[in-house]
This record gives sequence, C-alpha cells and structure tokens, in this order.
Amino acid sequence: MTAVSESSNGVRLEVSGLRRSFGGRPVIQDVSFHVDPGEVFVLMGPSGSGKSVLLKHLIGLEKPDGGEIRIENRSIQNPAVRNQYRLAMVFQSGALLSSLTISQNVGLYLREHRIRPAKEIEQIVRRALALVGLQGVEDQYPAELSGGMIKRAAIARALVVNPQLLLYDEPTSELDPLMAAKIGEEIEKLNRRSGVTSIVVTHDRELAFRIANRIAVIQNGRILRIGSTAEIREDANPFLQKFLLAGGNPLRKTNPKSL
Ligand code: ADP
Ligand code: MG
Repeated sequence: MTAVSESSNGVRLEVSGLRRSFGGRPVIQDVSFHVDPGEVFVLMGPSGSGKSVLLKHLIGLEKPDGGEIRIENRSIQNPAVRNQYRLAMVFQSGALLSSLTISQNVGLYLREHRIRPAKEIEQIVRRALALVGLQGVEDQYPAELSGGMIKRAAIARALVVNPQLLLYDEPTSELDPLMAAKIGEEIEKLNRRSGVTSIVVTHDRELAFRIANRIAVIQNGRILRIGSTAEIREDANPFLQKFLLAGGNPLRKTNPKSL
C-alpha cells in the first residue's frame, strides 16, 4: 500500500522516548515514532519483544515510566485529553464475553455508556457486523464461531465507536493463511473507507508487507528500524534479515503495492 487514505477520520499519533520496566527489567526502551493520520503503521517483531505492552500504553491501559504519547499534538497522559479522542483496540484473543451473543458483545460499549438509544444501537451493531462481512450470527455465542469469525466480531466491536485510532494486536494469529488474508483485506478496507489511523502489531510478515504504509521493526523493546516496505525488505541488518527469512521466505514474491 502506498497512498495514505484521503478521508479525514484519522488522528496523528506521536510517541517519544517511551520507557517501561517490569520488576526492573526494561520492556520498552526509549521508543519513538509517529503515525500519520490515515496511515496503516505496522509494528513487527518477534514474540516477547514488547509489542503488546507498547499497544497497551498507546490506549492508556498501561502507564509509562517515562516519555510521552501525543495525539494531534496533545499529551494523552491526562485521561481527560485521551477521552476526547475515539481510540479502539482489537485484542489478540478477541476478548469477547462468552455469556453474551455476538450482537450483545459488539453493542456492549454503546449500551453501557448509553451513547445512543437502543434502536439505533441495534442498527450500528448490524452495520459494523456487515462491514466485516459477518451476517446472520447476531444471536450466536462466541463459542459457536470459528477463529476467523471471532476476529471479525472483535473488529466490529472496535468499529462501533467510529474510531480515529484503531489498534490491532496480532489480528491474524491462529488463523489459516486464507482467513489471515481476508482479515488483512478487512483492515485495508476499513482504513480506506474511514481514514482511521491504524496500528497493526504482528509477527505475520506476509500481512505486514501487504497492508503497511510503513513498518517499524521492534527488537527487545527497542525500535530497530522504521521504513517503507521496500526499505525494510532491502535492509541489510542481520537481525532483520534473519527475522524476515526465518521459516522460509513468504516475501520472495514482489509485492505489487510497494513498487
Ligand atoms: P509481544 O511482543 O510478544 O507482544 P509483550 O509486549 O507481551 O510481547 O511482552 C514483552 C515482555 O514484557 C515479555 O517478556 C513479557 O513477559 C513482559 N511483560 C508483559 N506484561 C507484563 C506484566 N504485566 N508484568 C511483567 N512482565 C510483563
Ligand atoms: Mg503480543
């Protein structure tokens, strides 16, 4: 993907000097990057490199030891500022509540915050499910759905707030390659449609190179490289090459979108 979406829903994010340790062990180390409005920014790195912890900081679920996160050039350290923006996260497991139906799960936030009348919530939920290609499962429970459908429902749940910043944590993990490709298409489609700024955390190299405007590679809590898909692919850094080539090379085929 090259052109950043032209719709204007997305916000600009800037992270500078972010640090976080757990029990004296640094997990996020001086991380700085920015994401443009409407960009699909991929954070790629091996398991345990700090990707999920970083996402949780961006959405305010974790507090940094140091550094700053700014949205539209305003620090979101103050929750009142953060609450002025519509941020949403698609959790790795989907994090749907097993006792609620799919439509109850997707509409939960709107119902709990009484943001809209019940009738309207029903419509918003139906529209969000349709957007991710999930129809006819409104009254089913999460346990009755396949892994791919759960991921879609989790995306639909994030969409009901009409997010300006949408974070995805491993959206294709545990999916077969075909389903993973479809989820990648959904992410691109939603980005194009609403211009939402999207940050996708993944160790799925194929997904990363297909959907990214830019890729940041993270290693041991540090940003190793940030670049276009072509720049990352051609980078000579030994760690990067090893990571990109491990387990066969899904990237050998030229990506037409990154030419
Ligand atoms: P990944 O890149 O796989 O998403 P994580 O961000 O989940 O990695 O974790 C990075 C490191 O931080 C791991 O070593 C993990 O064990 C550690 N970690 C994550 N959350 C906590 C926590 N709440 N307390 C202590 N250590 C944590
Ligand atoms: Mg993770």
